[in-house]
Amino acid sequence: MKEELLNNLHHIQERIEKACIKCNRNPNEVKLLLATKTVSAERIKIALEAGYTLIAENKIQELKEKYEDLKEIPHTNHFIGHLQTNKIKDILKYDVSCIQSVDRFDLAEKLQQRLTFEDKTIEVFIQVNTSFEDSKFGVHPDKAIELVRQVAQFDRIKIKGLMTIGLFSAEPERVRKCFRLLKDIQQQVVALNIPTVGMRELSMGMSGDMEIAIEEGATIIRVGTAIFGQRIYPDSYYWNENRN
Ligand SMILES: *Cc1c(COP(=O)(O)O)cnc(C)c1O
Repeated sequence: MKEELLNNLHHIQERIEKACIKCNRNPNEVKLLLATKTVSAERIKIALEAGYTLIAENKIQELKEKYEDLKEIPHTNHFIGHLQTNKIKDILKYDVSCIQSVDRFDLAEKLQQRLTFEDKTIEVFIQVNTSFEDSKFGVHPDKAIELVRQVAQFDRIKIKGLMTIGLFSAEPERVRKCFRLLKDIQQQVVALNIPTVGMRELSMGMSGDMEIAIEEGATIIRVGTAIFGQRIYPDSYYWNENRN
């Protein structure tokens, strides 16, 4: 089990390198984030000990369950799931350094309030729904820049980039369109020159489409299945608002 996991990690590393060579990028520009939903703390530990220390959960409940087991091993926690405002307190409790899924004003507003109260700051990405699917979270692309401007006013929240989930499609060019759109929004934000807004990070690409995302400029890819194997829950369990 351990060996298979390490092999998978190694294989992802190779895929990153290959994709980078193809588009003339330096593989060091692409960080590998492990999407650890449904994965046991025991298995996550194997990856952490092998030096893969950037991990992310989709649900507070799982973050909480694994927290004690993982806390002695140095790592960085991002959050990539749909965040309900009543869970903000919890997310700050479990050392999440970056919320990649900020997609609406009221969430940012409540986050700012809580951060002020606790005298903390946090990094965030703005999640954009580049596939225009109802089942996916994220701000509508037409509203993304407005949201960036609004969130930028909150001094406790540091915007570092954008995140998206690409369209699930067997047609690479349709998937690519999503990633291009994210890059395009990134460049529009950069052109605005908002002093407090960082736009270096583009979190896009998963097990099935990481090569395309890397070609389109991803700086963080989020990989679950290709490392840890198939999950027992369908992804709609994590992504569809009605089920949360
Ligand atoms: C599960 C998940 C991933 C990883 O997906 P895989 O296809 O398993 O690699 C990436 N991003 C988000 C937001 C996820 O929920």
